[in-house]
Amino acid sequence: MQNYPIFIDLKGHPCLIVGAGPVALRKTRLMHSAGAKITVVAPDMCKDMREEFGGQVVYHAREFHESDITGYRLITAATNAPEVNKRVSELAQACNVPVNVVDEPELCSFITPSIVDRSPVLIAISTGGGAPVLARLLRAKLEALIPASYGKLAGTMSRYRDALKTAMPDERNRRIFWERVVQGPIAELFFSGRNNEAEKALESEIKRANDAPENTGEVWLIGAGPGEPDLLTFRALRLMQQADVVLYDRLVSREILNLTRRDADRIYVGKKRANHALPQGEINQTLVDLAKQGKNVVRLKGGDPFIFGRGGEEIELLAQNRVPFQVVPGVTAASGCATYAGIPLTHRDHAQSCLFVTGHLKDGTVDLNWELLSTPQQTVAIYMGLVGLPIICEQLMAHGVSAEMPIALIQQGTTKDQRVYIGTLSTMPDVIDQQKVKAPTLIIIGSVVSLQSQLSWFEP
Ligand code: SAH
Repeated sequence: MQNYPIFIDLKGHPCLIVGAGPVALRKTRLMHSAGAKITVVAPDMCKDMREEFGGQVVYHAREFHESDITGYRLITAATNAPEVNKRVSELAQACNVPVNVVDEPELCSFITPSIVDRSPVLIAISTGGGAPVLARLLRAKLEALIPASYGKLAGTMSRYRDALKTAMPDERNRRIFWERVVQGPIAELFFSGRNNEAEKALESEIKRANDAPENTGEVWLIGAGPGEPDLLTFRALRLMQQADVVLYDRLVSREILNLTRRDADRIYVGKKRANHALPQGEINQTLVDLAKQGKNVVRLKGGDPFIFGRGGEEIELLAQNRVPFQVVPGVTAASGCATYAGIPLTHRDHAQSCLFVTGHLKDGTVDLNWELLSTPQQTVAIYMGLVGLPIICEQLMAHGVSAEMPIALIQQGTTKDQRVYIGTLSTMPDVIDQQKVKAPTLIIIGSVVSLQSQLSWFEP
């Protein structure tokens, strides 16, 4: 181990910062948030620092003197004068005061780590000063992995520690209790910002601490996005890894399914056009039944659950049966496919609005508001529109849209099998006829499609 890690208490303790430029400002911010009583020595203080800390630090507007060194718990030198930095380091080390000289590891008696701050949870990362880029990279990963509300959770847990100690004297049981809290619905309430509910739930759990745990699970209705696993949200991934049972349909890719907890039961409730493996009513009921058996159920849906996803119907029955649930949004096909095809859905020169519609055939035809769809300066994104495409093109032309209006058909968007077909209202039905187009496909109509040749970036 190159350095010995510690967390030092600076609350109310005098600390010295030599220098008052942008680098010193960064250090001042950190020390200030740790509650240090800061003294700054520097001939000039930069404007930003004056605005942020003028009046909050003791400032000596002059060169550093040797006599400045005594009386501090910690010293940082951040000047652009190497000889001053060196002198500060020598003097501090001579009287055994920990000193850091920014970006000069050999002059430091301590180094400052990269941090992930979820106070009171604080994660410090060090590469011994040798590879700060790596430390920053790790930090970014941890930042992404740890929900911002972790601090709230930790703070609340610490406030309820004594109460739980009284209610549950056995230490091992307390550990199991907290493990359940941080991995279960109470933590999830915090992560979704429902702090009051979370605290109430925690209180009542503590009250019932020694009773047998109540046996109800939760249902998480999760948008799995258009196909590319990287487009999942962090919350989706976290909940997927806590599932006891996963119900999924055809649009959810194998790669995404493999990110659910390894030993979770997987139930296919697939949906091909008009060919449901399980009728909707039965899916809804299954969710209720599984949760009532105490299972945490993930219902994975392609795209976003609330966009042509029947998400509303599935949670209605849960709400009626008082089964707790959460909904996690996902990247919807229109957004994912447009982005991965290089077609901005809105653009100041082309479209000020965008419609999402379903092109699903009903009684052999497509029943849409054609006047609305023909509005100029607008993009239309059509879900489930492949079969109805010839009718859609015909109707739009009949309602005054130019036969030259560009149209894109994106097959298996965002995945390695993505294909983009470009045509016009008059040519597209033939283009489709001649190609072996595979579901799912998303159709985009509007002059934004003309930007595709220039903006396309994704090459599967
Ligand atoms: N809830 C989903 C939509 C479900 S309806 C969402 O928000 O995306 C199913 C339709 O979505 C398909 O018929 C197709 O039009 C579209 N779709 C879903 N994933 C797609 C993909 N990867 N590529 C192209 N279209 C897709």
